[in-house]
Amino acid sequence: NRPLIEVRNLKKYFEVQKNFFGRSGTLLKAVDDVSFAIQRGETFGLVGESGCGKTTIGRTLLKLYEPTAGDILYDGQSISKLNHKEMLPYRKKMQMIFQDPFASLDPRMTVAEIVGDPLAVHNICQGKDRIDRVKELIELVGLKADHLGRYPHEFSGGQRQRIGIARALAVEPEFIVCDEPISALDVSIQAQVVNMLEELQERFGLTYLFVSHDLSMVRHISHKVGVMYLGSLVEYADVHELYTNMQHPYTQALLSAVPIADPDTAEQSKRIHLQGDVPSPLNPPSGCAFRTRCPHAMGRCAEEKPGLRDIGGGHVVACHLIE
Ligand code: SF4
Repeated sequence: NRPLIEVRNLKKYFEVQKNFFGRSGTLLKAVDDVSFAIQRGETFGLVGESGCGKTTIGRTLLKLYEPTAGDILYDGQSISKLNHKEMLPYRKKMQMIFQDPFASLDPRMTVAEIVGDPLAVHNICQGKDRIDRVKELIELVGLKADHLGRYPHEFSGGQRQRIGIARALAVEPEFIVCDEPISALDVSIQAQVVNMLEELQERFGLTYLFVSHDLSMVRHISHKVGVMYLGSLVEYADVHELYTNMQHPYTQALLSAVPIADPDTAEQSKRIHLQGDVPSPLNPPSGCAFRTRCPHAMGRCAEEKPGLRDIGGGHVVACHLIE
């Protein structure tokens, strides 16, 4: 089956620390040679500590950032080099739900204006049709039509995120990047929002990239999960395989912090404490970027960056131990 989204050797570098004379400074390799695919109707969960590049991947997929190198394919068509005008039809198909429902809604706009805005931008419907469509969308996310004239500050965090979701759904997208969509919400509300995203996925056949540091929630919602460390994907697999048979030392440490109610994996649930902090992405270690914290690091790890290897059934790992 052809994936809806395919990422091939994607790189996104940012130039930082321009010096006094305007000369270019250091390159921050936020995303460094990442490849994966998402099947239509599925959720690909992307996990890792903050600063690992997962949010940058989401934004680069939607071309909010121009990729530095590599390719992004949407339903088999390369979109990496499309200009603004050529991207317009894809912008309708690809939407984003933002992390912070407080910052992502314009406080001066009413709910009707916020949710109706994408319909206006893409010239989808006007007048009464637009109002009817906005009402439909607002009810779809569990709010009431009489909320339409109100402003964002009149709503709770969970309700604001629902407004953000209604706005993303307005143009009937196929693919949505959910960028930490629950991390700013109360724990009591998080499950409601995730359940709603699942219901919407089933109803409309949506495909998600679900970026989160909440490993339990990612396990709940995802079909496949990828683990990122310092700009690279170090392991990905089907969700059950990844959470029960993780192979990369970083994945093992990350997932050891998640309580797993499965007797088969009781041994793996022993907490692994990593030494040190994540190194600066401006000056990553040579070879395997994880080697400064890896309990299994060996001489070769400093010299050679491990490539991704499929160890069977689409379970892919980048670690010299695997060889
Ligand atoms: Fe550890 Fe070496 Fe594997 Fe990197 S390649 S995760 S340092 S064993």
